[in-house]
Amino acid sequence: MSTLVFLEHHEGAHQKGPLGVLSKAASLDPETAGVLVGAGVAPLAAEAGRYGASRVFVADDPRLAAPLPQPRVDVLSRLVRDEGFDTVLFAASVLSADVAAGLAARLEAGLNWDLSDLQRQDGTLAGTRLALGDTVQADVGWTSAPRLGLIRSGSFDPEERGGEAPVQEVPVELEDFSTRAEMVEQAHEEQTGPSIEEADILVSGGRGLGSPDAFSILEELASALGGAVASTRAVVDAGWYPYPTQVGQTGKTVAPKLYIGCGISGAIQHKVGMQSSQTIVSINKDANAPIFEFSDLGVVGDLHEIVPKLTALVKERKGS
Ligand SMILES: Cc1cc2nc3c(=O)[nH]c(=O)nc-3n(C[C@H](O)[C@H](O)[C@H](O)COP(=O)(O)OP(=O)(O)OC[C@H]3O[C@@H](n4cnc5c(N)ncnc54)[C@H](O)[C@@H]3O)c2cc1C
Repeated sequence: MSTLVFLEHHEGAHQKGPLGVLSKAASLDPETAGVLVGAGVAPLAAEAGRYGASRVFVADDPRLAAPLPQPRVDVLSRLVRDEGFDTVLFAASVLSADVAAGLAARLEAGLNWDLSDLQRQDGTLAGTRLALGDTVQADVGWTSAPRLGLIRSGSFDPEERGGEAPVQEVPVELEDFSTRAEMVEQAHEEQTGPSIEEADILVSGGRGLGSPDAFSILEELASALGGAVASTRAVVDAGWYPYPTQVGQTGKTVAPKLYIGCGISGAIQHKVGMQSSQTIVSINKDANAPIFEFSDLGVVGDLHEIVPKLTALVKERKGS
């Protein structure tokens, strides 16, 4: 195997997802390399070595400043051909999905997407893909090289594996058709604290909160725990909380260390987005709520009484 991992970054910092994919890939193939594409990205190369890259390729060019897929496909397709990589891995994101699809078309390569695990089977790479609302687990492979894989968000944690990786600059040659798109504006939503994909602890609220104002008690608990607030589609559709916090089939997939679900029934469409959480704690006044079937700890009661008590307890333990 000779593996390349696309190292996505944002505002001068590595994204956690690709570093996790890098660490996993390095555990399967010690010769795993990483590639950074962008403008002013060279300083990030050293960190990639710490997470398992044996080499880091850097394509640093002002024309790559905007996070547009086609110029990245130009860089990656040339690199894969020149260096003979037989496997290219991406952590799922909007940009990575576009780049992976473009690269698959350019290289006429097979792309397995939404993989939740990777393993070596009989000397070759195999992936795990969950299907039918995550109730079925299938082993998937590739019939040709290069093999492209897009890994589901939160599947692997970044692991410091030590080591310094040699850095190699990549010449940037862009196709005419790749430079036709122009990014007119880039905006981001202001938020305090970590995003729900990055947070180790999520306090998640559902319709059981009863009103949008009740999210303030979840925000207090999340802040005391150093986590972020997530939500269900029911509350997002009702306009109680913003869409970027929605977990589930039509929202985000998360895998925090601790997921505290408050007033959430546990519909399958919600479950598929959070069932990989390490520990699931649920607070629901209905002892028969489906969420208790996949919770590690269930508390039957009114969240409006329990959550503030929990916050007070956390603050007391932390001495603040
Ligand atoms: C195609 C499709 C895609 C979907 N995608 C998503 C998705 O991405 N994410 C998602 O979340 N859903 C999604 N849904 C919707 C999903 O089916 C459920 O409707 C939704 O998850 C329910 O949200 P909820 O748990 O907040 O609300 P409810 O199902 O109404 O549950 C509220 C819970 O709160 C409890 N409760 C009430 N009061 C209290 C109290 N005071 N204290 C404690 N507990 C209380 C109740 O017992 C109940 O269990 C999708 C549906 C479809 C059809």
